[in-house]
Amino acid sequence: METNAQQPKVAYFCMEYGLQNDLKIYAGGLGILAGDYLKGAKDHDYPIIGIGIKWKHGYSDQHIDEHGKPYVLYNDYDYDYLEDTGVTVDVTVRGRNVACKVWKLEEFGSAPLYLLDTDLPQNEDKWISGRLYGGTKDDRVAQEIVLGIGGVRALRALGIEVDLYHFNEGHALLAGFELMREERDNGASFEDAWARTREKIVFTTHTPVVQGNESHTIDRLMYMSANLGLDWDQLMRLGGNPFNMTVGALRLSRKSNAVAQLHGTTANRMWKNIQGASEIVAITNGVHPGTWVDSAMLKAGETGKNIWESHQANKRDLIKFVEEETGAKLDENKLLIGFSRRTVPYKRTDLVFSRPEIINPLLEEQKVQFIFSGKAHPNDDASRQIVARLVELSRQFPNSVVFLENYGMTIGAKMTRGCDVWLNNPRRPKEASGTSGMKAAMNGVLNLSILDGWWPEACHHGFNGWQFGNAYEGENVVALDENDRKALYAVLLEEVIPTYYDNHDQWVAMMRNSIQDTRDAFSVKRMLDEYYEHLYQM
Ligand SMILES: *Cc1c(COP(=O)(O)O)cnc(C)c1O
Repeated sequence: METNAQQPKVAYFCMEYGLQNDLKIYAGGLGILAGDYLKGAKDHDYPIIGIGIKWKHGYSDQHIDEHGKPYVLYNDYDYDYLEDTGVTVDVTVRGRNVACKVWKLEEFGSAPLYLLDTDLPQNEDKWISGRLYGGTKDDRVAQEIVLGIGGVRALRALGIEVDLYHFNEGHALLAGFELMREERDNGASFEDAWARTREKIVFTTHTPVVQGNESHTIDRLMYMSANLGLDWDQLMRLGGNPFNMTVGALRLSRKSNAVAQLHGTTANRMWKNIQGASEIVAITNGVHPGTWVDSAMLKAGETGKNIWESHQANKRDLIKFVEEETGAKLDENKLLIGFSRRTVPYKRTDLVFSRPEIINPLLEEQKVQFIFSGKAHPNDDASRQIVARLVELSRQFPNSVVFLENYGMTIGAKMTRGCDVWLNNPRRPKEASGTSGMKAAMNGVLNLSILDGWWPEACHHGFNGWQFGNAYEGENVVALDENDRKALYAVLLEEVIPTYYDNHDQWVAMMRNSIQDTRDAFSVKRMLDEYYEHLYQM
């Protein structure tokens, strides 16, 4: 029998990994996915290793000032569990040599992860591995040189042979340039080097908004020394002008994937005019149950026993945490709705508060309670305003609206276990996947969500959660928001609240359905199996 270990060997490149709350080399969902992927690879014995960067300041710490405005702090962390491989590789950034030390991490139940680090005494450019997603576009290219070019050189120096290079997001694209350089050094023409390199690369695209896909002027790639001998025309043929990292990755890969079925449709529509792009298949993300799901809930979902009791234990744990953090006293016998994600306008974090005449009375009598958490980008004022507004609401309704500062894996795990309902209302179709909803569903926390990301694949309205908005899409943001706001209030007032308070048996049955419908279908094992079947097949 073939074991997984005999499958193609894969090196997975990602800018960030969310493996553990205090290992701050991640910023958000992309990193959490990468972390879960490596844990799944370890659990199920897939021959996968990860390549990343040892960020000095990965995830910033978010705090709220006395005026209710968020601010960030970057703390230094020491990771004494990183193993020194003794290997250092060199890359060139803006004409200058940069040494990259290679660390190995095999903690937290993950497959081996190699992390590059430029914070070395001999480097003038120590800053490169300084701040994840911080800095200018030049800085970003420097970081991508370390990840991509340094990453391939690290594999060579470590003597690790792989069959495939998997780029999680376009950040890793420069690894493809390094593979092409190797081919060309062996005498291949540009065309042949391109064709051969393509055979070894697969690519996962995430961002379903065109402007969210990183691009650079071709000049920048050249003066930053990212081009590795490719000339202006060759760069343009790969990534266009300006050079788009996603377009480049689509043209340098043999196959690509989107991260949910709906996202597959969106991504194919977005990139349909790109000549020479690889096929984009849809492989829905999955989450690592060992990290995110309470085993008592999984068992309860299976046996049908102790569903409510197990859930209430998780809810009490969350309520206690909230009180310790904020002083708010939530009631375990009242409906508790959670919302935590990166704060950006299209996710409409405060949509549910947009009609005070409807929602305020419910908050006053504590009939619904909300916990919010999420970070806003420090330079994005619109998003910081949203956080400030949530903080203001939490002061207005101290025991029914809570804002938890410093969202991270610990808060994510507590909230997706301990809330009753998981709310999600992005402007469709802007959410690629939305894995927090999977975590919630597997814990018996019922999703109340727009039909975006993964949810159309799982939702049976009124059976295992609820949808609202009927998949409405539109260019007119005002009309879209109005449609979704009305729909949200209708489902909340006519279905969610009455079921919670007046039909307990139905609620518990829905919790069980939620667990059963998602535990395997949205686990990282299913995702890995599909990667091997549809993306990695040689
Ligand atoms: C699960 C998780 C995410 C990704 O979830 P989304 O639904 O995409 O927001 C992001 N950050 C943290 C801390 C998580 O636990």
